[in-house]
Amino acid sequence: MTELHQVRSNLYVTESRLDDFDVRGVVIIGSERTVVWDTLSHPSDMRPLLPLLRDREAIVVYSHADWDHIWGTVALPYHEVIAHRFCQERFSTDVPHCLTDKRLQEPGKWDEVVLIPPTATFDTQMSLDLGDVTLELHHLPGHTRDCCVGFIPEWGVLLAGDVVETPLPVVEEDSPIDLWLAALERWEGESRIKTVIPAHGPIGDRSLLTRNISYLRGLSDGSATASLPITMSPFYISTHEQNLRYARKS
Ligand SMILES: [Zn+2]
Repeated sequence: MTELHQVRSNLYVTESRLDDFDVRGVVIIGSERTVVWDTLSHPSDMRPLLPLLRDREAIVVYSHADWDHIWGTVALPYHEVIAHRFCQERFSTDVPHCLTDKRLQEPGKWDEVVLIPPTATFDTQMSLDLGDVTLELHHLPGHTRDCCVGFIPEWGVLLAGDVVETPLPVVEEDSPIDLWLAALERWEGESRIKTVIPAHGPIGDRSLLTRNISYLRGLSDGSATASLPITMSPFYISTHEQNLRYARKS
């Protein structure tokens, strides 16, 4: 079940609970155009926001091509889907495999999902004028190589996708940790940011960036474990152990 919450005027989040973790998307309503940032894991996750869109077609943006961010698109009236070029490439590789696996594991549950690849892509950055408000998309290879973040300068909001997470971010085997750290440090120094909205874990301010930077740094020198909360869900306990393994290999 997805819940819709208003963060400020013309900015909403969609929050959905999955078996192991929660995931969050965002809706930005400009005077001319509306953006849906991530469509979560199932078409039913997007239905609660149809009244908000009224009859307007939305621009869908994918933060990256992991299944929990892209599988709800078919339920929306959309006219464009935007993402990083690497995200589009994943629709020919791991994205369909992931859906096939899920359908085998849980027959029936994922029948409504239709994979909708990006119709437009960018390499470094792209700016979307929504009317009175702008969404800047910036490539941020981190958790995965196709990740991007969205910056709304007029409101001081950073949409962080999976490059920032609490209690800890998910490192993949091929995550470019050095590039990830360097980019997070640049954003940490961006004083216009007042609110950081990640896809997993609480919404916060720039201190979320600082905490993720020190965690990622601490993976190589062993200090990451000390900074974690005493109790964590089984998902984050096993993710942390895996992060340590991947960081030692890189
Ligand atoms: Zn995710």
